Amino acid sequence: MEKRELVIIGAGPAGLTAAIYGRRSGLDVLIIEKGLPGGQINTTDEIENWPGVQHASGQELGDMFRKHAEKFKPEFRDAEVQGLELKDGKKIVVTDKGSIEASAVLLATGASFRKQGCPGEAGFTGRGVSYCAVCDGAFFEDQDVAVIGGGNTAVEEGVYLTRFASKVYIIHRRDSFRADKVAIERALGDPKVQPIWDSVVEEIRGTEMVETLLLKNVKTGELSELPVSGVFVFIGNEPNVGFLKPLIDSGVLKTARGGWIKVNDRMETSIEGVFAAGDLIEKYLRQVVTATGDGATAAMAAYAYISEQVHLEGKLLEPEEVSAVFYSSVDQAQVRLAGEIEGAPQWNRVVLVDGYKNSRMAEKLQVQSLPCALKIKKGTVTKRLEISSATDLQSL
Ligand SMILES: Cc1cc2nc3c(=O)[nH]c(=O)nc-3n(C[C@H](O)[C@H](O)[C@H](O)COP(=O)(O)OP(=O)(O)OC[C@H]3O[C@@H](n4cnc5c(N)ncnc54)[C@H](O)[C@@H]3O)c2cc1C
Repeated sequence: MEKRELVIIGAGPAGLTAAIYGRRSGLDVLIIEKGLPGGQINTTDEIENWPGVQHASGQELGDMFRKHAEKFKPEFRDAEVQGLELKDGKKIVVTDKGSIEASAVLLATGASFRKQGCPGEAGFTGRGVSYCAVCDGAFFEDQDVAVIGGGNTAVEEGVYLTRFASKVYIIHRRDSFRADKVAIERALGDPKVQPIWDSVVEEIRGTEMVETLLLKNVKTGELSELPVSGVFVFIGNEPNVGFLKPLIDSGVLKTARGGWIKVNDRMETSIEGVFAAGDLIEKYLRQVVTATGDGATAAMAAYAYISEQVHLEGKLLEPEEVSAVFYSSVDQAQVRLAGEIEGAPQWNRVVLVDGYKNSRMAEKLQVQSLPCALKIKKGTVTKRLEISSATDLQSL
C-alpha cells in the first residue's frame, strides 16, 4: 500500500495552509481534494476580510492560496476520500482512487451551509444570496435585506446585519422564534428588525442581483412579493464528515453537538495522529482567517507527532535493550540533570527524552513523573527509576 507522512483531506484554506507549513517543515505531504482547490470561498464574489488583500473574489484568493501551496511542492491528488480506517494503530485513508497509509492525517473537509432549496437560490448565490453575515453584511449598507430562519443564528445574525442594512426582515415558517430569550428580545426590540411570521420563501427573483422574494404564508396560502437586495439563509450548517461516520458513531472520533469535530489547542482529535482544522471543528468563528490559523497549528502539531513517532520509536522501542531518561525541558533543575548526563562519557548511550514535549511517548511508556530513568527491552519497560542525579543511573 502507498505510504505517506502527512495526508491532508481537503484543499480549502485550512488544508492549503497546512500543506505550506507541512512542506516547509520537511514533511512528505499529500493533499487530496475532490473539487476545486480553494474550498468554499470559490463560491463567493467578494472577500474583504483577509488581511493584506483589501478586495478579491473568492476564486482569486483561492487561486493565490493554491499557487502559494504549490510553490512548496506537496502532491495534489484529485480524489474523493470515502473513509478513514484504523488497523493495528495504522491510519488508512480510503479514496475512490485507492488507499494510502498515513503517519498522520489532517481532516480539513470544511462545512456546508444547509440550502433553502427554492428556485433562484443557487443562481443568486454570491449575487445577493449569502450564508454568512460577517462575510457579506457590509455589502448591504443602507439596503433592505431578509434573513431566512428562526433559530439563534438567524436571530443573532439578523441583529448583526442592522449595523449595515436599513431594514432586516426575518422570515420564519412559524409564529415565534426558536432562539434564546435574550436574543429574541434583542431582535424584537430593534426598530430595524421586522419578523415575517408563518412564511416561507417560494422563489428568489432578480435580474443581475436579487431584487425580490416571493413569499407564501403557510397558514393562509397567500403569496406576496418582498423587495430586498440581499437574502441571508440561516437554516443551519454542518461539517463535511460523512466519510467519518463509522468512527463518529462508534465514539472513537469525538464530536460536539451538531457533529463538529472536537480538537484541543494543537488541533489533535481524539484519535492519535489524526488532526482536524478549519470549518469542520467545534469553534466560535468559521472564516478563512481562522481556518488558515488552524491549518498552520495542525501541520506543526502533525510534524511534532511524526518526528516523535519516527525518531523516538526507532530509538526507544526497536532496539534489543536501551536505557532512557525522561526529563522536563521547562524545569531548570531537570535541564541541568540532562546536561550532566549528556556530558558524562559513561552515560553516552543513555537516550535523553524531553518528556514535556514528547508527552505521548511518556504516556505510552507509563512515565508518571519527571525525571524518570527506564530500561527498555524490545519496547517493554523492564525497570523504572526515579532519579535526582546522574549517579542514580548506576542502579539502572
Ligand atoms: C458564500 C460564502 C462566502 C464566504 N465569505 C467569506 C468571507 O468573505 N470571508 C471569510 O473569511 N470567509 C468567508 N466564507 C467562509 C470561508 O469560506 C470558510 O470559513 C473557509 O473556506 C473554511 O475553510 P476550510 O479549509 O476549513 O474548508 P473549505 O473551504 O470548506 O474546504 C474544504 C475542502 O475539502 C474538500 N472536501 C470535502 N470533503 C472531501 C472529501 N471527502 N474528499 C476530498 N475532499 C473533500 C472540499 O471540496 C473543499 O474544497 C464564506 C463562505 C461561503 C460559502
